[in-house]
Amino acid sequence: MANFDNLPDSRQSLLGYDHEGDEVWLIRGISQKQYTCPGCYGDVEIGEDHVIAQTVHRLGGTEHRHWHRGCALRTLAPALRRLKAVNAKESGRAQLERRGKRPAGKRGRRAPRR
Ligand SMILES: [Zn+2]
Repeated sequence: MANFDNLPDSRQSLLGYDHEGDEVWLIRGISQKQYTCPGCYGDVEIGEDHVIAQTVHRLGGTEHRHWHRGCALRTLAPALRRLKAVNAKESGRAQLERRGKRPAGKRGRRAPRR
């Protein structure tokens, strides 16, 4: 796996796969409200530059969590396989939610092959 010291920014997101083969898209975000980081259970404060991890399940459906950048780098990113950089334009929330409406085999070129 590539080693990323660079987390997502406004031009680039990351895409990897979790242990179940679901897509996990790491996207840069600025919090509009306070969230709980799943890495450390601390607060992601309003206005904080952080990482949105949007999972697109193989069988369909999406969910997302808000991570501190440091926690995403130390905990989340190392747990993902085949992590690679993608253009941030491909990782819009609406786009990924649409993607989640189709099962993995019918999504086109980024679908994991099984
Ligand atoms: Zn955290």
